[in-house]
Amino acid sequence: MIYAVAVPAPPVLAVVVEPSRLAAALVGPDGTMHVRDRVTMPSRDVWRALDRLVRRVNAAARESVPPFSAVGVSCVGPVDEQAGTVSPPYVPGWNSFPLREHLEELTERLVIIATAGAAAVEAERLVGEAMTTPSFVLLIADATLDSACMVDGVRFSGAHGNFGSLAHITVDMDGLPCWCGARGCLEPYLSSIALEAEMNRPLRRANPSIVERAGIMLGRAIASACATIDIDTVFVTGGVIDAFGDQLLDVARRELLTRTRLPNLAGISVIEPVEHINPLLRAASLVLSSSATNR
Ligand SMILES: [Zn+2]
Repeated sequence: MIYAVAVPAPPVLAVVVEPSRLAAALVGPDGTMHVRDRVTMPSRDVWRALDRLVRRVNAAARESVPPFSAVGVSCVGPVDEQAGTVSPPYVPGWNSFPLREHLEELTERLVIIATAGAAAVEAERLVGEAMTTPSFVLLIADATLDSACMVDGVRFSGAHGNFGSLAHITVDMDGLPCWCGARGCLEPYLSSIALEAEMNRPLRRANPSIVERAGIMLGRAIASACATIDIDTVFVTGGVIDAFGDQLLDVARRELLTRTRLPNLAGISVIEPVEHINPLLRAASLVLSSSATNR
């Protein structure tokens, strides 16, 4: 007699790099988070902290979970997917840091690195509100600004992996200084780090004029993006969207209407997804999503 033994499907190691923290988890193919852990972003030796975190997560799972099959990394942009390097703002010493090489050496597995925006696009398409939306832009306004897009069901990478990034498009010619060194990028109007530094107070105590300004700049950016890539659905999410609420989106939609007059640009939807998908699940989606293999 032959007994069929169910072999549990291997999980994915998900890694998240944000300005304030590093996080890692083992995520099953069905999205189950088996083990997860995080550390506050250290002021130096960031790789050593991430190395220890990954080893800790792996050790904690050893008894109960099969070995992971691949690694999905969500890192605030910009990234260079071809070189496997990352340059996240506010992460000490990580300027063109060879993260893929380090993780490949540590894990001996395939490592897929993408921006936080790209990871969120994959997740929203896989398990979120974009499951039936083949073409859309997704923008995360959090500590920093990150975005990416999917076109006809495919997430393009571009030359370096930053396709669909709206953070550093110019929305105001003589506008606010950006961490990148330029002026008038969208980033400082919608990043909580930039806004709190400018206001010297927490986001939730922002003056209505700051919220209005953010909405105008967001509307301008969406108008440019939709006119360029012929997309009519924009998802916006993140802590800044939560804090500024409906006023921000109302202003953005109003601004959008004044800047999109062509018939093909009528009816652009700006949608705030109801569910916030965990950033670790977003990172895992880079491996779990079938579109990841189409690139
Ligand atoms: Zn910039």
